Amino acid sequence: MGQPAQQREVLASVCPHDCPSTCALEVEVLDGRRIGAVHGAAANSYTSGVICAKVSRYAERIHHPDRLTQPLMRVGPKGSTQFRAISWGEALDRVAGSFSGISARHGAEAVWPYYYAGTMGLVQRDGINRLRHVMRYSRQRLTICTSLPELGWWAGVGRSWGPDPREMARSDLIVVWGGNPVATQVNVMAHVSRARKERGAKLVVVDPYRSGTAAVADVHLAPRPGTDGALACAVMHVAFRDGHADHGYMGRYADCPDALEAHLASRGPEWAAAITGLPLQDIESFARLYCGTPRSYIRLGYGFARSRNGAANMHAVSCLPTVTGAWQHKGGGALWSNRGMYHWDKTLIEGLDALDPAIRVLDMSRIGSVLTGDRRELRDGPQVHGLLIQNQNPLTVCPDSNRVRRGFAREDLFVCVHEQFMTETARWADIVLPATMFMEHDDLYQAGGHTHIQIGRKLIEPPGECRSNHEVLQGLAARLGAAHAGFEMTAMQIVDATLRASGWPDAETVLRESWVDAAMPFDDAHFLTGFPQPDGRFHFAPDWAALGPDHACMPRLPDHMTSIDETAPEQPFRLVTAPARNFLNTSFTEMRSSQRRESRPTVLVHADDAARLGIADGGKVRLGNARGEVILHARIADGLQPGVLVSESIWPSEAFDGGIGINALTSDDPGPPGGGAVFHDTAVWLRAGAATHRHPRESGDPGWAPAFAGVTN
Ligand code: SF4
Repeated sequence: MGQPAQQREVLASVCPHDCPSTCALEVEVLDGRRIGAVHGAAANSYTSGVICAKVSRYAERIHHPDRLTQPLMRVGPKGSTQFRAISWGEALDRVAGSFSGISARHGAEAVWPYYYAGTMGLVQRDGINRLRHVMRYSRQRLTICTSLPELGWWAGVGRSWGPDPREMARSDLIVVWGGNPVATQVNVMAHVSRARKERGAKLVVVDPYRSGTAAVADVHLAPRPGTDGALACAVMHVAFRDGHADHGYMGRYADCPDALEAHLASRGPEWAAAITGLPLQDIESFARLYCGTPRSYIRLGYGFARSRNGAANMHAVSCLPTVTGAWQHKGGGALWSNRGMYHWDKTLIEGLDALDPAIRVLDMSRIGSVLTGDRRELRDGPQVHGLLIQNQNPLTVCPDSNRVRRGFAREDLFVCVHEQFMTETARWADIVLPATMFMEHDDLYQAGGHTHIQIGRKLIEPPGECRSNHEVLQGLAARLGAAHAGFEMTAMQIVDATLRASGWPDAETVLRESWVDAAMPFDDAHFLTGFPQPDGRFHFAPDWAALGPDHACMPRLPDHMTSIDETAPEQPFRLVTAPARNFLNTSFTEMRSSQRRESRPTVLVHADDAARLGIADGGKVRLGNARGEVILHARIADGLQPGVLVSESIWPSEAFDGGIGINALTSDDPGPPGGGAVFHDTAVWLRAGAATHRHPRESGDPGWAPAFAGVTN
């Protein structure tokens, strides 16, 4: 007798990863138990059947043999990675008991629930805030990704939305500024390709190195990192100088065009060339191309805002379509993110009705400083003694990672990590809980890179004893006595109630229709009914004081803000830690196929620098600064300026010779005016060879954990 035929059905889902594309998926489910091929939904007008390779291989990730499947308790010294399996009941009792004890001894603010965007589903990602608010635990400032670009965008535009990104297919010029969509939101390229094929549109990429996107562009401008504001000023200077500035538009829609014109008179291409390192002619050509193309769409990335002057850079670039009036045209304008357009009522998800604004807020990007007792970061409150971590891997991902590891090494810190794999952070936990993946639970999704609301259903049972974030929070709430309606509901009930409370169709309708296209009318998305500012105008002169406490240093009008981690004789290079195509932060680093494609931790070095320092292609090099030292392999590259280094990231620390990851070099300084991680604003030295570096285990570093070797039953 032959084997019974495998049952195959194709079911709808949504990509939950930290990517603006939030792709609508079609997932092959085999025998109701396993995932097969994953495709983009062709019927979704943004996804258009296109997804990235790493998610198309998702079966490798969801059925990975290294997934966590049981609750674990640490049985060896902290960081020893020795665990034994325990029951869910014991695990949750221990976590709740620890948090209750900490609260009794030090106050509730000594517990810090910590999370970010390991999933972008609103219920499973943000539900941790419900437990936080009901229990009066310390609050969290979400600074690691969006605060710098968002404040820069708000400075001029006012709120986070803009022209529909599908309009890129109707553009004559697309400028991808400070992003690499080939690696980080591949759907952008599908719409760009249509514009190129059907309209002969040009693609310009502004990025300090020849990324995958820059490699396929018509024009690539590679400014020195942190100088984008100067380039933007020069383009606007040319617009005024050569008669491309739309004075009629600005008179109606902008705050102070005359002041801007006077200010930019001394900020022409020659001035910008000296700051950016770009050839004068390249700046002139780009400025003429941009200013002479009414249907020009600037797709703004996050990268160029991850700098101490990142908010100022974002603001400066967002001024361009206001000077030329490009916002008025279909296929014209600019977009950073649509994340502000969904008007969610998140009371139920986040327990906002229990939020006490008097409770302190800790900066997630500065977790190293927080855990090592920085009084200012602790807001003069109690030391953090308890962490509950979901959807985040701060030991690898956060800046100044050597300091973060010292914090996690504290004997008086209790850590519970709810995770899918034994990440570097999980290895330092006292209790590790196994987490579901997106096809194993229900959730609700918005998109930053387009306009759709979607629901992702549970498609298969999780392996072993994995539980969703929502289920873990329910279990803890029951033990801690945290009362809130959200803890009594299923994830799908919360999805449905949130949709209704926010003015969107209910869950049944969204599921039946596959998605809701929440796109704004053209006039609103293009700000023809006014910008979402109190005076209805775009602000060339922002009210920075309204955007953050550290506003005194911000430029009054768009400018090159000089406050970057500038090079010096002892650290003469500028380092950018751009995203790798086959990873997404540290998601996907466990997949062998992604590891093979990325090969090994590598730094791109300009040929002139390599020759001067005796660095061979493929040879080991050391990068360092006052915060730490990292060993990588060099790749000799062009497409970047001498003095610039690029390391595509984020490899787990154990992948590096020496066991120290790239974020040992990045600073946890907050970018003004409102904080934000400055990952691409790092001055370093570079040396050939790896001779003097010792593995942290040999150097006796208390904050180093060996690789996870399995569980004792
Ligand atoms: S492009 Fe982004 S949203 Fe789409 S499948 Fe890949 S990671 Fe997910």
